[in-house]
Amino acid sequence: MKLVQGKVVLITGASRGIGRAIALKFAEQGANVAFTYLSSVEKGEALEKELEAFGGKAKGYRSDAADFKAADELVNSVVADFGTIDILVNNAGITRDTLLMRMSEQQWDEVMNANLKSVFNLTKAVQRPMLKARKGSIVNMSSVVGVSGNAGQSNYAASKAGVIGFTKSIAQELGSRNIRCNAIAPGFIETEMTAALDEKVIQQWRESIPLKRGGSTDDVANVTLFLGSDMSAYITGQCINVCGGMLM
Ligand code: NAP
Repeated sequence: MKLVQGKVVLITGASRGIGRAIALKFAEQGANVAFTYLSSVEKGEALEKELEAFGGKAKGYRSDAADFKAADELVNSVVADFGTIDILVNNAGITRDTLLMRMSEQQWDEVMNANLKSVFNLTKAVQRPMLKARKGSIVNMSSVVGVSGNAGQSNYAASKAGVIGFTKSIAQELGSRNIRCNAIAPGFIETEMTAALDEKVIQQWRESIPLKRGGSTDDVANVTLFLGSDMSAYITGQCINVCGGMLM
């Protein structure tokens, strides 16, 4: 029996990186996958075909997670297309890194809207189908820097710390309705984005991690699958670090 056979999962920001690995993992484990992207239209369309090859239903939606109305419309469309939403993965996120001294109001607002307001938007919208079904699992992507802070990322770290506080609050609000809400704090995950960095810098990062390597997108997708599935039925309000021991 596959871990999420027949369940409907909605994943935000799945055209690339971690979100894409999560979508593939859920499809491989029998889920019907609804996912979003914003600018990567071709990648989104290609992913839809890749996911369908696993035998379940798959559909990509171009939708801005930072837009409250669009998130509500998205959830209505997914429910109309798939019947319900069992699992929500709030993965979409951006960085606009710079020191506070140079940070513009726009850089602050863009990050807060894409990383934190998006989580509010989607969680509020999926409450309806989840309350109706009297079950659900919500997984929010935070970051180790949301716990530890990081110079040059005050906007990003604040948004990711906010995600953890939101997660714990929603777990308390919706626990009695059998709706779980957990967060994941990835450490240094090697994606297309990090591949563009200087190899020497990457090597220094790897050496500073107890497991002596950067994480893979699959490392994060495996924990997301666990938290989304009934394997974690008694876990809610937690933030799991997926960071090779970087943060203890
Ligand atoms: P990524 O490769 O940059 O991919 C981000 C995804 O989010 C893309 O699919 C992008 O869509 C989508 N997206 C961005 N803004 C959006 C919006 N407003 N509405 C809908 N979709 C949006 O990022 P990643 O490295 O995989 O990171 C995924 C998540 O993990 C993020 O929340 C990030 O903060 C978190 N994280 C990553 C790391 C890491 O080391 N990589 C570490 C800790 C936490 P388009 O392609 O269409 O723009």
